[in-house]
Amino acid sequence: MAFVGLKSIVAAAAIAQFAGLASAAEYWQSFNSSINPLNITLPNIPQTTSIDPATECTYYNPDPSLFTVDPTQWPTSWDIATSNGMNTSAEFQNFYNSIDWANAPNISVRTLAADGSIDMTGYDSQNDPDCWWTSSTCTVPKLKDVNADIYECPEPETWGLTYDDGPNCSHNAFYDYLQEQDLKASMFYIGSNVVDWPYGAMRGVRDGHHISSHTWSHRMMTTLTNQELVAEFYYTQKAIHLATGLTPRYWRAPYGDVDDRVRWIATQMNLTSILWDYDTNDWSAGTTETVQQVQASYDEFIQMGSNGSMTTHGNIVLTHEIANVTMSLALTNLPNIMKNYKHVINVATCANITYPYMERTVAFRTFDEYLSQNTSAAGAASSIVGSNTNGAVTATGKSATQSSATSGASIVRAISPAFLLPLLLVLL
Ligand SMILES: [Zn+2]
Repeated sequence: MAFVGLKSIVAAAAIAQFAGLASAAEYWQSFNSSINPLNITLPNIPQTTSIDPATECTYYNPDPSLFTVDPTQWPTSWDIATSNGMNTSAEFQNFYNSIDWANAPNISVRTLAADGSIDMTGYDSQNDPDCWWTSSTCTVPKLKDVNADIYECPEPETWGLTYDDGPNCSHNAFYDYLQEQDLKASMFYIGSNVVDWPYGAMRGVRDGHHISSHTWSHRMMTTLTNQELVAEFYYTQKAIHLATGLTPRYWRAPYGDVDDRVRWIATQMNLTSILWDYDTNDWSAGTTETVQQVQASYDEFIQMGSNGSMTTHGNIVLTHEIANVTMSLALTNLPNIMKNYKHVINVATCANITYPYMERTVAFRTFDEYLSQNTSAAGAASSIVGSNTNGAVTATGKSATQSSATSGASIVRAISPAFLLPLLLVLL
């Protein structure tokens, strides 16, 4: 660009002030954490050890030797992340101004209709110029230099295991089961949940799951302004880093609502979208759909693992840890998923993403490395390598000692399906 105006000079000054970082994409280097992701010990309190939802979901103040969450330094939980004055903080403004907005796409902010759905009036759905997933399930950006979405596992007969909306305060029994079976999932955490239940996020990393961002307040992203989008990403990254020592490189749009404007901003923050190609609609079980209807979706997708539908590629399935009914459905169905699919693995491993975090302290196995370590125990393999600059390796997870049917059944009984997070209503 030949024209150098005042705005460029101001932006350059802002970059220089921003901890001397080379580019906007290095923002995560100024985040603080005292957690070593390769050596996490969960505080031994009833909330981390119980499988009674009421006990697990009793509010706690985190141990100050691990981290403190000063409410004045964070957006309001479940409110758009510019709330609580965050959009005017020097930290946020410096980062926001370090983004090269001159190259931002000129794509409209969408609006919500009266019923809360996206208003698509006037949008050219036929040509879908903005690669708007909500309009056409487009996943290949029309815009240059924007990270394309991941929406399926490339490897045949592979179930891409993903759970959204955590960390759920009552997930202990569910995570216990995944640990017993040595299953590693991709977990899409909501920033507000991480700040409210940070030990849940610590456990996700300790157990070797692949942690990704699911935004701060779970809004339809295409309806947010550029500033609101940056804040939704920024404070979720900061929260996950505080609680785990890791900053995700992947994220998932709530409701899949992503277009090229949202993708462009995510790309500036070194984030890539992971969507799905099969949706169980499990979040709606007991509300807009019956549990039987959700089970029928599960059954259909499970059968695809053995009926020839997955011989050339795998899938990524959308499921949730949002409520005990969704976690119970997971526990009921995982034994069958493992029977019908050769591989049940997280997206980092199935898509050969060695480094799913900005930090290179934790590495995930490639699919081939996973296969070579998985020849004797069907369905069971640690996907995390865990390495640091010294090449240290951390083994996580333990081998299953019970049959899946036995342990699954006992855990389903331990979770009360009637117990739903009050926040479920907010999210719906
Ligand atoms: Zn969600």
